[in-house]
Amino acid sequence: MVRKYKITEIRDLGPETRVFHLEPVEGEIPGYKAGQFLFLHLLDEKGETIVKRPYSIASAPHMPYIELCIKLVKGELTGRLENMGKGAIVGMDDPVGPVRYNDEEKAAFIAGGTGISLMISILRHIAHRQLKGEFILFYSARRKENILYREELEKLQKKNPAIKVVVTLTREEEEWGGEKGRLCHEMLKRYISEPKEFTWWLCGPMGMLKAMRECLASAGVEPKKIHMEGWG
Ligand SMILES: Cc1cc2nc3c(=O)[nH]c(=O)nc-3n(C[C@H](O)[C@H](O)[C@H](O)COP(=O)(O)OP(=O)(O)OC[C@H]3O[C@@H](n4cnc5c(N)ncnc54)[C@H](O)[C@@H]3O)c2cc1C
Repeated sequence: MVRKYKITEIRDLGPETRVFHLEPVEGEIPGYKAGQFLFLHLLDEKGETIVKRPYSIASAPHMPYIELCIKLVKGELTGRLENMGKGAIVGMDDPVGPVRYNDEEKAAFIAGGTGISLMISILRHIAHRQLKGEFILFYSARRKENILYREELEKLQKKNPAIKVVVTLTREEEEWGGEKGRLCHEMLKRYISEPKEFTWWLCGPMGMLKAMRECLASAGVEPKKIHMEGWG
């Protein structure tokens, strides 16, 4: 069922990447689990769908709006969305998707680019519920300016000792004291001694996900403990 939502907030998050807050025109936000996605519809004057695309939900279920983090790639949907402002009405299907977080106590996340949207939803949920356990995010970005949700990730880590955030930059940057280069087996091993004890969520470009899935399989992680969502 396509419900109508109003865009209530728009914020630049990084190069060509924007955050949108959406609130239902009528009724409540339908229930969902951190990690799910939904279809965003752009509508014509009659309320008919012009184009629809799937997006990971970046907000967590306790939040009073749906947040989407969208890279503007000048395509069918994003080319139109780029020119829409606060107050515009869009459509959204109810949240769906088998990739979801069920309060697992040992959880590791691998994100590339806008794949962080799925992970920020889960981390916001973990922090809000003050869940106990071990939670680690590996986030691959090109340069410092491409680290989406950078301040929030730092705050989440500071306030919640159970959450660790590891960012790696794939392009050379001065004054960067963190990890550099593509995520690989050696990098994961520096932070997790027993990868197979964790449940893993992977989200980002398909090429990266395939490489990381192979890496996790060689570290003995069972396929059922790897959840993947890829695009691009
Ligand atoms: C389950 C799921 C969740 C998704 N979640 C998100 C999300 O949270 N944020 C997000 O930004 N996208 C997300 N996507 C991708 C999104 O659905 C669209 O594909 C994307 O926004 C492009 O749509 P478009 O209509 O503007 O481009 P299209 O008209 O479909 O494509 C235009 C051109 O842009 C290229 N292109 C498409 N996506 C990208 C990209 N990311 N980077 C560079 N070039 C690209 C295409 O190859 C094509 O050449 C998700 C996809 C899936 C399947």
